[in-house]
Amino acid sequence: MSRIKVHDKEFELYIPQDQIERAIKKVADEISFEMAGKNPLFLIVLNGAFMFAAELFKHVNIECEISFVKLSSYSGTSSTAVVRELIGLDHSVANREIVLVEDIIDTGLTMRYTIDKLKKLEAKNVRVATMLFKPNAFKESFPIDYIGMEIPNDFIVGFGLDYNEHARNYPDIYKIVS
Ligand code: 5GP
Repeated sequence: MSRIKVHDKEFELYIPQDQIERAIKKVADEISFEMAGKNPLFLIVLNGAFMFAAELFKHVNIECEISFVKLSSYSGTSSTAVVRELIGLDHSVANREIVLVEDIIDTGLTMRYTIDKLKKLEAKNVRVATMLFKPNAFKESFPIDYIGMEIPNDFIVGFGLDYNEHARNYPDIYKIVS
């Protein structure tokens, strides 16, 4: 499908599935190489990262643990400055190598909050893996260790990303038609 309608907005095909999957495979290879022997704890940030994570972990071939957390700062089509609580953390992070698995980093505020929280809980090291990164929107300075693709500041949906909870299920990524 080259165009989709989600709620009141039109979206056009932007990144096809095979291109996304190639980018994710590259991230998985980098992680497998760098994190081997460190027994990392991957924390998948729900809901948006579920599809990225499912694809990523088909190719991460090292000893590791995988768990899920939730934290949301987003409603509608522009990132808000409100960061809510980190919930669902059911593993001890003290002295662990943590890799946060995120769908997209926009301003970086959400990740900054999450990294700080995990450091307060005495994580040994916190790395970040994101499927997509918007460098022109980024306002923070923490390093992003693993990036699938860099994209401009367009609002996108699909491959786990939603517009008011719809369109997460599309296997391709679509961008808003303005
Ligand atoms: P940040 O705190 O980095 O500004 O925002 C991160 C969160 O905003 C992401 O986890 C994601 O939920 C949401 N977000 C940022 N850009 C987009 C986008 O283009 N599309 C969608 N659907 N969500 C986005």
